[in-house]
Amino acid sequence: MYDVLIKNAKLVSGEMTDIAIKDGKIAALGTITDVTATRTMTLDSQVFVSAGWIDGHTHCYPNSPIYNDAPDAIGVTGGVTTVIDAGSTGADDVDDFAELAKACQTEVRALLNISRIGLLRQNELADKNDIDLPLAKQAVERHPEFVVGLKARMSGSVIGENGLAPLKSAKQLQHDCGCLPLMVHVGNAPPTLEDIAVLLGKGDILTHCFNGKPNRILTPEGKLRSAVKDAMERGMLLDIGHGSASFSFSVAEQSIEQGILPDTISSDIYCKNRINGPVFGLAHLMSMFFTLGLSHEQIIERVTANIAKALRLETKGQIVIGCDADLTLYEIEQTPVTFTDTEGDTRTGEQRFAPLAAIVGGNLTLTDRGHTHHVFHS
Ligand SMILES: [Zn+2]
Repeated sequence: MYDVLIKNAKLVSGEMTDIAIKDGKIAALGTITDVTATRTMTLDSQVFVSAGWIDGHTHCYPNSPIYNDAPDAIGVTGGVTTVIDAGSTGADDVDDFAELAKACQTEVRALLNISRIGLLRQNELADKNDIDLPLAKQAVERHPEFVVGLKARMSGSVIGENGLAPLKSAKQLQHDCGCLPLMVHVGNAPPTLEDIAVLLGKGDILTHCFNGKPNRILTPEGKLRSAVKDAMERGMLLDIGHGSASFSFSVAEQSIEQGILPDTISSDIYCKNRINGPVFGLAHLMSMFFTLGLSHEQIIERVTANIAKALRLETKGQIVIGCDADLTLYEIEQTPVTFTDTEGDTRTGEQRFAPLAAIVGGNLTLTDRGHTHHVFHS
């Protein structure tokens, strides 16, 4: 007896499978007959099933005074099964956040801000006294499941007069914490992206990778900066982190044309850019990548397997027996859709990802569209 049985699941490859779930895990795949389940869903040929979508850069600590949201508002409500909060909390508030996260339908994980105060202020790395490595290490050790990595926001407005010192501290902490993944934000210089990239490599994720600020990954001539290229060759990953100010179609198009693709697609979402745009939700940004030439499969990979691998979420990001029963059910809707980047440029597309449901550890949450879909009323 299974808890959930999904019949006729269409995978992104077009392949069909049944998926059985028991005790929060994927228990069987393939053609499953002669078994019973507490809940059986028979899908139609329009509905795709992928591993649960993971948004690798969000802000969803509800008590942050500047960038906050409710995890479920950016998670299961939009078909996203796991949200990664990128540094809203540091050592001071991570306990509170971990406690709040337990009550959510969405799986919540955190990248610990290397500043103990997290996003209590915009310039959390401007006061050296807030970078307390032993305190941060203890916070990591208190939350071996919840804290999956570290976050350092390396832009002029955040670091004040501290130059590269916060990044050097972040690398030290990363080393002291078993080489946890480190997400580094780039914004306005100083420091320059070259100076940042020299320190990055395997295990590091550069977020806001297609930002349109002068401190972008491309030179004024449109070539990839050599320091960034070298860091990528050492294993540094590129993450979108669209947000309210960090995504340029022009940079994205010039990069993708040269074969520089993001490794992961994330939103940098919080309540304001969710409600007023330009982010709206992960599905919206995933759809935007159709207009940038990525395939359905390439887009799904970037919000499932790639981000799970980058953050070492070993039981997530794939549909494999024994993995967490985190799945996203969605359609590809043919409809005109307009996307606006953070420079005010727009592009139009003809199709979009339309999430119907998120299944987290076997528990189903329908999106608005899912609520009215016939598949869930049989
Ligand atoms: Zn962010």
